[in-house]
Amino acid sequence: MKIAVAKESEVGERRVALIPDTVARLVKQGIEVLVEAGAGERACFSDATYEAAGAKIVSDTATLWGEADVLLKVSPLQERGDGQHEVDLLHEGQVVIGFLDPLGTPTLAQRLAERKITAFSMEMIPRTTRAQSMDALSSQASVAGYKAVLIAAAAMPKYFPMLTTAAGTIPPAKVFIMGAGVAGLQAIATARRLGAVVEAFDIRPAVKEEVQSLGAKFIEVPIEEDTVAAGGYAKEISEAAKQRSREVVAEHVKTADAVITTAQVPGRKAPLLVTEEMVAQMKPGSVIVDLAAEQGGNCACTKPGKDVLVNGVTVIGPINLPSSVPIHASQMYAKNVLTLVQYLVKDQALNLNFADDIIDAACITHAGEIRNQRIKDALAANNEQVMERSH
Ligand code: NAD
Repeated sequence: MKIAVAKESEVGERRVALIPDTVARLVKQGIEVLVEAGAGERACFSDATYEAAGAKIVSDTATLWGEADVLLKVSPLQERGDGQHEVDLLHEGQVVIGFLDPLGTPTLAQRLAERKITAFSMEMIPRTTRAQSMDALSSQASVAGYKAVLIAAAAMPKYFPMLTTAAGTIPPAKVFIMGAGVAGLQAIATARRLGAVVEAFDIRPAVKEEVQSLGAKFIEVPIEEDTVAAGGYAKEISEAAKQRSREVVAEHVKTADAVITTAQVPGRKAPLLVTEEMVAQMKPGSVIVDLAAEQGGNCACTKPGKDVLVNGVTVIGPINLPSSVPIHASQMYAKNVLTLVQYLVKDQALNLNFADDIIDAACITHAGEIRNQRIKDALAANNEQVMERSH
């Protein structure tokens, strides 16, 4: 069995799908590992370190993609700089594993099905205890939550910690975290470590205890409707409930030095939590870091990939934050992918047991079919939009 690690072609993507340590583990199991020349360079892993771990370095992209039984990626397959689409580098029966964005870009799943590729999407790994060590959404969200706080601290014209000095006393910064999922909880922990006073809000009441155990104050918003969907995720709430929560959180946004928004509803545009009016009420010098920038933003003023100044408030919409901590983001992603590969490969052969809930959920295309109804629905909705636009 040959497993190949591709060099990422996404602009700005610094992560790599396997690091040398994980390569060594596969090689020890008798698996041949091919690594595209320079694949780990932007994550500070040289070709020489992969070679020392037992990998074969391959300079020619077509050879690497052609020889692989299992191809490992981080970012979704896409058109390369030379105009060729990465899907066209694959051949029937191959396995590809990566973040494939099947709900956001269902047309990619369609192309993979048409080429009879067996594709595993890391986003579709179930969020269960058994699958925890394969949960790349969590490992990468935790990196993003950490980095968001550092970005806020660096952009703020103030200290985070309380300081008592001969030159006077500096009060601690007040940080408000909106959305207390994996990224939000890591943001709370990081802001607390830097000495800030932290408040947090989420529509899922279950997170209250987690927020409090990290030393932050939980802001309660009485929402009468059900806010939790299957798998522990948030549900899209009604406009009335959104309005009610905005009224409650407005006061906390107004007094915050930094607001970090992380709210997401899977498969939907990110909910709007911070309106233009709320931004206008904030103190000059305050900072908003919007982790939902790529999904439409939690703040009305967010521009993805940009820092904008609105009445003295800096609104930052970072893109692909995990990639900005590439060593540890790659290390954790590699561990997630290694666990999945070891789960799939038995005695050097692929063991596709679709009765297993992890394999069933994560395998999005096989034998010419899209295997997941939510992706089929997303594709149908996408096709409808294309039809409407062409009329
Ligand atoms: P996510 O990225 O989808 O969303 C981030 C947060 O935004 C969530 O906490 C959500 O409740 C919140 N949110 C959504 N709409 C909101 C709104 N209008 N206002 C305020 N907050 C809003 O979530 P995630 O971090 O990927 O994970 C969410 C949950 O999934 C976890 O807390 C947990 O219950 C479950 N999970 C389980 C496991 C496991 O068991 N292994 C692992 C990871 C996650």
